[in-house]
Amino acid sequence: MSYDIAIIGGGIMGCATALRLAAGGMRPIVLDQGDLGQGASGVNAGTLSLQIKRVKLMPYALKGHHLWEEMGTAVGFAKTGGYTLAFTDREVDLLHERQTMKREAGAPITFVSNNALRAAEPGLTHAVKAASYCPEDGYANSALTGQYYRGKLQDAGIAYRERTPVTGIDRVDGYELQTPAGPVRAARVLLAAGAWLKPLAALMDVDLPVNARINTVSVTERMPAMMSHVIGHATGLLTMKQKANGTVLIGGGWQGKGTPQQGRGEVDVAAVKPNLALAQYALPALGTARVLRSWTGFEANVPDFYPLAGTLPGFDDAFVLGCVRGGYTIGPSIGQLMGDLILGRSPEMPLFDPGRSFEEDRP
Ligand SMILES: Cc1cc2nc3c(=O)[nH]c(=O)nc-3n(C[C@H](O)[C@H](O)[C@H](O)COP(=O)(O)OP(=O)(O)OC[C@H]3O[C@@H](n4cnc5c(N)ncnc54)[C@H](O)[C@@H]3O)c2cc1C
Repeated sequence: MSYDIAIIGGGIMGCATALRLAAGGMRPIVLDQGDLGQGASGVNAGTLSLQIKRVKLMPYALKGHHLWEEMGTAVGFAKTGGYTLAFTDREVDLLHERQTMKREAGAPITFVSNNALRAAEPGLTHAVKAASYCPEDGYANSALTGQYYRGKLQDAGIAYRERTPVTGIDRVDGYELQTPAGPVRAARVLLAAGAWLKPLAALMDVDLPVNARINTVSVTERMPAMMSHVIGHATGLLTMKQKANGTVLIGGGWQGKGTPQQGRGEVDVAAVKPNLALAQYALPALGTARVLRSWTGFEANVPDFYPLAGTLPGFDDAFVLGCVRGGYTIGPSIGQLMGDLILGRSPEMPLFDPGRSFEEDRP
C-alpha cells in the first residue's frame, strides 16, 4: 500500500501535521523509532508561556494557546496565568525590553506592582524588583502527549507505526522508506524527527544545520500549596509551576550531557544545582522540598533559532518541520500551518524556509 505522505517522527510536530493532512483528505502514515511522543514532546516542562516566546513567534504562540484550550484536560492543560520575575537592575531592564516587544507583538502582558505580585503569590521572595504578568500563560502535562495523539490518530483513521526507525529513504516513484519491519511507500515525505533531523536529512543527502540542546527538568515531592501561577525569570533560566497533585516542576533550559544519538542524555548535577537554587531563591518554601527526579531531553535548533518549516532544499515533494523554540507551545499551530502548505493551501501565517541562510539572531 502506498500512502500520500510518510511523516517521520511522531512528536507533537509530526502528529499535529498528520491530523491536518488527514482532515484535508490526504492519507498519511506516521513512523516513529520509539513510541509516539517519547522525544522532546513527551519529556518537556510543559510550560505554555507567551512571556518566554520569541517576539517573531508570538502570532504562532497565540494561535497555539487557543488550540491548547481545545485540547484541555486530555493533555493536562491548565490556564493559570504566569508571572516573570526580575531580581537585579539588569534583569529589570531585560524584563522591560523583552516583555514590551512581546506586548507589541500581541501578547496581553502587563507589568505589575510588587503589592499586586505579593497578593497573587504571597510565597515569592520579597527580593523581586519587577514582575510582568500574562493571563494566557499556563501549562500542560507533556507525559500525556503520546497518549493524546495516539488516540487522535486512531480517531482520524491515520496509520502509525511505533518502534519503527527509518534507516533509509530512496526515490522510487515517490519515496520508499527502509525500516526493520520492511519498506514503506509514500508519494511525499515530511521529516519531523526533532533533534534527530540532521542524520535523517542526511539520508536524502541534505545537510541541515541542526544542533541539539540537552534541557533538564526536575520534579519535587508533593508539597502543600505554595504557588498558583506559572513562574518564570527574566533571563529564561527558571520556569516553575505546582501541579494539582502538589509536585513542583522546575526547568529553565539548564544543560545536561550527551547527544541525541546516544539516547536520552544524562543529568549534569552541576547544572541542576543552580537551577534549584534559583527556584528556591524565588520561592523560599521550596527549601523544604525534596527533588524526586531530574531528567533531560533533546531540543533541536538551527543557528538563527527560528523554525525549519517548509520544503526540504532541492525537493518539491519532501518537507521538514522542527527546531521550533518553545515548540511544545507552538507545535499544534505550526503543525496545522505545515499541513496546509503540504495540502497546497496558503498557510494563514508565513512559514520558515529551511533553505534560508542561517544568521545568528536571538531577540
Ligand atoms: C527538557 C525539555 C524541556 C522543554 N520545555 C518546553 C516547555 O516548557 N515549553 C515549550 O513550549 N517547549 C519546551 N521544550 C521544547 C519542545 O519540547 C520541543 O520544541 C518540541 O517537543 C519538539 O517537537 P518535535 O515533534 O519537533 O520533536 P520530538 O518530540 O523530539 O519528536 C521527534 C520524534 O522523531 C522520532 N525520530 C527521530 N528519528 C527518527 C527516525 N529515523 N525514524 C523514525 N522516528 C524518528 C523520535 O523518536 C521522536 O519521537 C522543551 C524541550 C525539552 C527537551
